[in-house]
Amino acid sequence: LEAKEEFRHKTLATDVMRPRRSDPPLSVLTQSGMTVEEVERLISDTTYSGFPVVISQQSQRLVGFVLRRDLFISLENARRHQDGVVSVSAVLFTECESPASPSAPPAVKLHSILDLSPFTVTVHTPMEIVVDIFRKLGLRQCLVIRNGRLLGIITKKDILKHMAQMANRDPESILFN
Ligand code: ADP
Repeated sequence: LEAKEEFRHKTLATDVMRPRRSDPPLSVLTQSGMTVEEVERLISDTTYSGFPVVISQQSQRLVGFVLRRDLFISLENARRHQDGVVSVSAVLFTECESPASPSAPPAVKLHSILDLSPFTVTVHTPMEIVVDIFRKLGLRQCLVIRNGRLLGIITKKDILKHMAQMANRDPESILFN
């Protein structure tokens, strides 16, 4: 990624992040409260490379980020090798176990595959800075937060697409946008 001239034109993280207003909402996992079956469905219904993990759907507070590949492999391993794991087993990204009822099937614990400090920016962060950080840290994606709530995601490809769009515009439309 090159820190392009285009980004001097006041583009902000909010202009590049997904989902767009017309898109379906961000696909997230909650740190607890989801079953193996629900997580497997999320994996098969989407193609995203990763999923943010939040405290709850209601709070949308970010806990971490998990790669699709790691999630897939871990669930497959648990299904194969962990005794008693079934579709309704809980999936837990939390470090400490919340007490489950003794009759509940064993939970699948996935704390170890969670990236606990994914890179985040706010909606107001200038894209010039975002691009600079992507380059320097070799990031593949970053998460976008507003007032402590997770709002979106920006991948390296999103940035490249946005740059291409800006480059294709005629100078006038950039000036007056
Ligand atoms: P890439 O951008 O390299 O194709 P992905 O396949 O992960 O990477 O993402 C495809 C598109 O979906 C991108 O525009 C990205 O911003 C968006 N996206 C990525 N992860 C999610 C997610 N968990 N929920 C909703 N949209 C996402």
